[in-house]
Amino acid sequence: MFVDRDGTLIVEPADQQVDRLDKIRLLPGVIPALLEIQRAGFALVMATNQDGLGTERFPEADFRLTQQFILDLFSSQGIEFDAVCVCPHFPQDGCGCRKPKIGLVTDYLLRTAVDRDASFMIGDRATDLEFAGNLGVTGLRVRVNGTPQETWETVARRIVRGRARHGWSGAHGKRRFSRRWIWIGRRRLPSAPGWAFSII
Ligand SMILES: [Mg+2]
Ligand SMILES: [Zn+2]
Repeated sequence: MFVDRDGTLIVEPADQQVDRLDKIRLLPGVIPALLEIQRAGFALVMATNQDGLGTERFPEADFRLTQQFILDLFSSQGIEFDAVCVCPHFPQDGCGCRKPKIGLVTDYLLRTAVDRDASFMIGDRATDLEFAGNLGVTGLRVRVNGTPQETWETVARRIVRGRARHGWSGAHGKRRFSRRWIWIGRRRLPSAPGWAFSII
């Protein structure tokens, strides 16, 4: 399951930039939902556009601090991301990795045997659903103050029930990705505890 970060896992601040710890708020129901989805056998892949990451306006250190806090928070509740894919570019940069383009997850798709018919992309924006369409996976929307269909509770039920209905095993054995990786742009770096990465 691919998942957007800002506006989907955590609430998007008014200035759309999560660069301080006090800006971090989880979306309602996100923890039990991700636990349930994970238990059903899905690997979680975070796919996020972080406009201008590494520029003066959004220093890398501010991103690292908040991103690590978010990953630690989820990890403390038993939720692990198999990969974290970050596009650091601005729209005008014309990169190939900014959602809704799929360059951000190309390496992941090559490395793993993702069954796209059985995969999902969860996000809060139209571009996330467009990204899902470009990937050939089912797109579902989660939003703060959205419709009852756009809550984590409903989305998790839909994903897990769909899996049961199709008779999938739900075993974790299908995971082929035990090590976490971070992609920044087109560079892939292993994510050891205290993960290191660099910006291209
Ligand atoms: Mg978002
Ligand atoms: Zn990019």
